[in-house]
Amino acid sequence: MPTSELTLLIEHSGADERHVIHEAAVAAGLMWKCRACPTAFLRVSEELCNECGRDREGRPLSDVRPGLYTAPDELWERLRTEVADHFRQEAFDPLPEAAAFPWESAQDAAPWSLTELTVHYGGRQHTHLTALEGTELEELLEEVALTVEPGYLEHLRLVLPR
Ligand SMILES: [Zn+2]
Repeated sequence: MPTSELTLLIEHSGADERHVIHEAAVAAGLMWKCRACPTAFLRVSEELCNECGRDREGRPLSDVRPGLYTAPDELWERLRTEVADHFRQEAFDPLPEAAAFPWESAQDAAPWSLTELTVHYGGRQHTHLTALEGTELEELLEEVALTVEPGYLEHLRLVLPR
C-alpha cells in the first residue's frame, strides 16, 4: 500500500480504528512502533521516533558515522568539539542533543551541507541555517570525508556533549 493510501486510512479513522490500523501497518511492515512511547507509530522512512528521538531498536540518539572506512575516534571527537563550539558561538542554550549534516551533492571534498544542518532536541528536529564555508569545521568535515569516503546520500550525525 502506498504511503498516501495509508495516510488517508489513518486520517479517516476514529481513535479506536486508528489503533487497529496502526497495529496492522506495523504487522505489514509499513510502520514501526517506538519501544519507549506507547502512542508513537512511525513510517518506515522515518529513522527516529518523533516524540523521544529513539530509533526502532529503542536506542537513544547516536552518532551516524558514514563511509566505507572508519575514521579514528580522535578525529570524530575533534569534529564533535568543533560542532559543539559552533552552536555555543551561535548562542544555542541548551545545546542541541545532536546535529546532523545532510548529504549534499557537492563537487569538492566534503559532500555534506555547510548551510543547512539538522538539529535534534529529543524527538524534535529542525533545520538550522548557517554558513560554515571557510571555517575550521569545513576543514574537519573535509578531513573526515577524505578518510571515510562517504557513500551517496549518507548523512553524518553527532551527539553533542551535555
Ligand atoms: Zn519514542
